[in-house]
Amino acid sequence: MQEWGSILNASISSSLPVLVLGGGIAGIHVAQELADFGIQVCLIEKEPTLGGKALQLFRFFPTDDCALCVSSSDRLFSRGGFRKCFYRCGIIEHPNIELLTQTQLVAVEKLNSEFKVSLERHPRFVDEKKCIMCDKCADICPVVVPNPRNLNLDTQKAIYLPASQAIPYSYVIDPNTCLFEECAKCVEICPTNAIDIKEERETIEKNFGSIVIATGFEEFDPSPLKEYGYGIFDEVITQVQLARLVDPQGPTKGKLLKKDGAPIKNVTMLQCVGSRDKRFNSYCSSICCTYALKHSLLIREQEIDVNIAYMDIRTPFIYEDYFLRARDDGVKFIKGRVSHIEKDPVTQKVHVYVSDIQTEEIMDLETDLVVLSAALVSSKGIKKLAEILDLELDNYGFFPTTGAKESIYTNIENVYVCGAAQEPKDIPSTIEQANAVSMAILRRNAPLQKGEVK
Ligand SMILES: Cc1cc2nc3c(=O)[nH]c(=O)nc-3n(C[C@H](O)[C@H](O)[C@H](O)COP(=O)(O)OP(=O)(O)OC[C@H]3O[C@@H](n4cnc5c(N)ncnc54)[C@H](O)[C@@H]3O)c2cc1C
Repeated sequence: MQEWGSILNASISSSLPVLVLGGGIAGIHVAQELADFGIQVCLIEKEPTLGGKALQLFRFFPTDDCALCVSSSDRLFSRGGFRKCFYRCGIIEHPNIELLTQTQLVAVEKLNSEFKVSLERHPRFVDEKKCIMCDKCADICPVVVPNPRNLNLDTQKAIYLPASQAIPYSYVIDPNTCLFEECAKCVEICPTNAIDIKEERETIEKNFGSIVIATGFEEFDPSPLKEYGYGIFDEVITQVQLARLVDPQGPTKGKLLKKDGAPIKNVTMLQCVGSRDKRFNSYCSSICCTYALKHSLLIREQEIDVNIAYMDIRTPFIYEDYFLRARDDGVKFIKGRVSHIEKDPVTQKVHVYVSDIQTEEIMDLETDLVVLSAALVSSKGIKKLAEILDLELDNYGFFPTTGAKESIYTNIENVYVCGAAQEPKDIPSTIEQANAVSMAILRRNAPLQKGEVK
């Protein structure tokens, strides 16, 4: 008997390829689903590695798995439900996936049912296939710069590995800080001649039958909210920065330490920073309560005291368990808004002043570290992308979909959206939507029309 996979592969191999924009969890999932069913996919990512936010987040609710644990690409036809580490997911070897990192969409022309697309690919300056990860280039590089992956909490070189499990697994040169011909020490030392500092930007033109927007989201920069002292006091960080600090592969190897290396004894988390705030983003970012609780539980393992100042704790369905566990584990909850944060110039201690709604008192919380649960906002450059594609954006800068029951369709036929590009959401909902997009594209390309029987 012929396998379903091979029947589908044979019947849809003639359909036009699909362009997926964004290589986070959403984009990777759609690309793998379609590719496993024989559809050609071009997955483009603007950064030098796949992974999106997941690369920075250490552990995920609801399973507390490593954030890099994603499904293997071959699960469909071999071991169902089998999970593999992200860096072994096989996406790079998939015959139906063309992966282009450091690439962005620059123009689109709609021709009947096709999209004629121009892509701009920025140079990596390191040949992915030749790089053997010997680290000699980074060791000899004299340029030390802040590390954006760790939100500038530590440093890297101008030639660097974008993540410990980067896909593609290869070094890359930062063109903004590299000294190029003035130095070129990395070129001389590379044992495989993988580095070409003269590599140039490339324009690629292709035709696609569908486009999937999976461009994700960003954490809001809380600097304009002066009362929180972000960017003023080193002791005030965001939840993504905290995620890097609790990660054993992060800048402090998972330990929460003060600047002088002494262990941190207490942390105060402040919820709804720039969310549910008419001055900035009036919506609820929906997942910050749960990840603040997830981080509280991780921090409690280091015997650190945690206070959470909140407006409402919103932990839907099974996420309530995180709230109950955190409460049982001694996390202190204070219902109230922050009035301001101060640093005592003599003791150098940080004080968070919170007006407690229940007691109507102003509380003075002396704390070693303040963590802001900043709003989740749309990705940088999304306005430009919407203009190129002629897509509508909602009032908050996310891609709206056309109806409650059709949460993957945009205002342009055959352009779909999934994941946090539509609104802030967790990974299970991201995967659900990515599955729905894959199914919509598969149905469009399927050999039979609905109701037709062969
Ligand atoms: C602090 C924090 C903790 C979290 N913890 C959890 C958790 O424990 N469990 C959970 O389920 N969820 C958690 N989440 C939510 C989770 O991060 C998201 O659900 C998930 O990242 C969404 O995936 P995505 O692919 O839609 O978006 P992203 O992860 O944002 O990926 C989007 C990708 O698109 C790329 N991109 C953007 N614009 C372009 C463009 N124009 N062209 C090409 N590429 C582009 C980006 O570089 C990025 O790689 C957390 C979020 C935060 C902020």
